[in-house]
Amino acid sequence: MARRRRTCSSRSHPQVAWLAARPRACPGNLARMLIADLLDLILPSSCVACGNPMAALCPSCAPRGELVSREIRGVTVTAAGEYRDGLRAGLLAYKERNRRDLAEPLGELLARAVDGLGGEGYVLTPVPSARRSARGRGGDHMFRLGRVAARCGARQLRPLLTLTRSVQDSAGLDVVERRRNLALAIRARSPRAGERGVVIVDDIVTSGATVAEAARALTAAGWHVRGAAAVASTPLQ
Ligand SMILES: [Zn+2]
Repeated sequence: MARRRRTCSSRSHPQVAWLAARPRACPGNLARMLIADLLDLILPSSCVACGNPMAALCPSCAPRGELVSREIRGVTVTAAGEYRDGLRAGLLAYKERNRRDLAEPLGELLARAVDGLGGEGYVLTPVPSARRSARGRGGDHMFRLGRVAARCGARQLRPLLTLTRSVQDSAGLDVVERRRNLALAIRARSPRAGERGVVIVDDIVTSGATVAEAARALTAAGWHVRGAAAVASTPLQ
């Protein structure tokens, strides 16, 4: 009988970990989130890209090659792969169809991208989600990915970034419009005693406007930004 690959996820049950550390949700959404979590625990999952019953994103569909690396306004950004094929299918299903069982394999890919930056002793911080879109997805999807990535690398995840005003959905905006949309829109908490280095984590890096604004806010708050890591990266548009 084929032995299943041991991964970071086998150390603890992802849904149980998420239930214990979920971000605050309004009471109306809480019941829906609990039902979705229970379904995830009961129903078997299959690969979102090819239907393989072995995993939510099977080894054939997950990127296995070299990390993608780019430089965005002085910030090194690594990603587990390009936003296409199985990775694109996985991220779309996770974000738009609420496939929570993908948090584990996508979070492991994010951990790989973080490792690619090298160094140690830094905390991870997720890019902020607009409150409305987080509610629509039954919680903060980036927070869940960040928790998995932090656990895999034995690092700390600290939500340091918040939006200071409402911003437009970036879909349909060009690079200049995205930068203008996010200009001075993010605020960062200052480091605590003994903290200094931080890595920004994101799901998909497109124009890099969010990473650039997050890095600006963190630097202004006194952090050393080691770089940014993402599950996937798209070519510059
Ligand atoms: Zn597959």
